[in-house]
Amino acid sequence: MTYDLIIVGGGLAGSSLAKSMAEVGARVLVLERAQRFQDRVRGEGMHPWGVAEARTLGLYATLKASCAKETRWWATYNDSELSRRRDLVETTAHRAGALGFYHPEMQEVLIDLAVTAGADVRRGVTVTKVFPGERPMVFAERNGTSDAFEARLVVGADGRQSKVRQGGKFEISRDPKRLLIAGVLFTGIPAAEDTVHVFRPATFGQGVLLFPLGNERFRAYFATGRRSEHPRLDGRSGVAGFIQCCVETGVPSEWFTNVEVGGPLATFEGAAFWSDHPYQNGIVLVGDAASASDPCWGCGLSLTLRDVRVLRDQLLDTEDWDAAAHQYAAEHDRYFGALHTIESWLTEILYGLGPEADRLRAHALPRFVDGSAPDLVGAGPDSPYDEAARIRLLGA
Ligand SMILES: Cc1cc2nc3c(=O)[nH]c(=O)nc-3n(C[C@H](O)[C@H](O)[C@H](O)COP(=O)(O)OP(=O)(O)OC[C@H]3O[C@@H](n4cnc5c(N)ncnc54)[C@H](O)[C@@H]3O)c2cc1C
Repeated sequence: MTYDLIIVGGGLAGSSLAKSMAEVGARVLVLERAQRFQDRVRGEGMHPWGVAEARTLGLYATLKASCAKETRWWATYNDSELSRRRDLVETTAHRAGALGFYHPEMQEVLIDLAVTAGADVRRGVTVTKVFPGERPMVFAERNGTSDAFEARLVVGADGRQSKVRQGGKFEISRDPKRLLIAGVLFTGIPAAEDTVHVFRPATFGQGVLLFPLGNERFRAYFATGRRSEHPRLDGRSGVAGFIQCCVETGVPSEWFTNVEVGGPLATFEGAAFWSDHPYQNGIVLVGDAASASDPCWGCGLSLTLRDVRVLRDQLLDTEDWDAAAHQYAAEHDRYFGALHTIESWLTEILYGLGPEADRLRAHALPRFVDGSAPDLVGAGPDSPYDEAARIRLLGA
């Protein structure tokens, strides 16, 4: 059973890459553990720079026609006061809004797209071992039966706990634990559904993001740097505490009067982890398997599609896939490094506590108003991130 590409994981990363390579004639096998995708509290709001990647990959129209809703406005509130309402279409280089979808629906749509493009997609299959090499191999189990597969290239698109990353012996770097982020799905919030709503209290250190998914659903995220004051919120019993955190952060309490909870509540570390140069010896990593950016900044979906687009372009450019994958990995290091730098600055500004953080904010916040700060939402890693940009934002 030999293929050009074996892709482990059929989420956003795996299915998008499978579709992109199968439609140009590559023999692609996707091995996906889940028989049916479920709500695992993942990203559901894609920034405009990711929407541009979705367009380039030919995913945008299908997503819009099936499960996704494009949101034009981005509203920021200080306490409960609206401080800015940004028109994303008018103010981003790609003239795009933000794309919201229920994550499991998006996964089903994209894995179907991979099948339609000609990929061999197998579900309910768990990859247990991966062996790097000139002809890398994958061992997978289904219903107690084990199979072996061989390919020119194995792709780890298997998320944060990647088995492929482990099998390929990639090292991981991690940011220190600093923020926590909890998320849950609500219906019944009486807020404008054409707007992403972001709340910060006057004291900073925490934030709430409400992302509209269509059909009166909002994915709500609460992020905090006050780890000792806000214990982890998980399960149904944590929902009342979650709502209280949102209200403390400035969300009007009446927005929760008639809410219904549409899925699990779960808390994650707000910290990035990544592999430098995510290619070696026949194994390449994409999406969260390569680098999970801090979920508090909502860039993971966009970063995942950037990975897919860059890897696809490199593989289509040459028959030498070893060289192509090295090129991808070098480019990945550059844009992930840029994003990580910008997110670290924003973490200092918006989640830092104490007099030094207040000093930083006094310098930095006007830069967001005059447009000289990095634009994480509109441009992501394509924003300036050099020393001059740092001094402009944070001061000398
Ligand atoms: C709390 C939280 C909030 C977030 N919010 C945002 C946001 O607002 N905006 C944003 O852009 N990003 C956000 N993200 C990040 C975003 O969800 C991820 O970057 C994105 O889902 C990564 O997609 P992926 O395909 O790489 O991984 P995944 O979505 O994890 O997909 C991996 C797939 O691999 C399969 N798999 C795993 N192991 C195996 C195996 N051994 N064998 C076979 N299959 C396997 C899994 O079943 C899964 O389908 C958030 C993340 C978290 C944790």
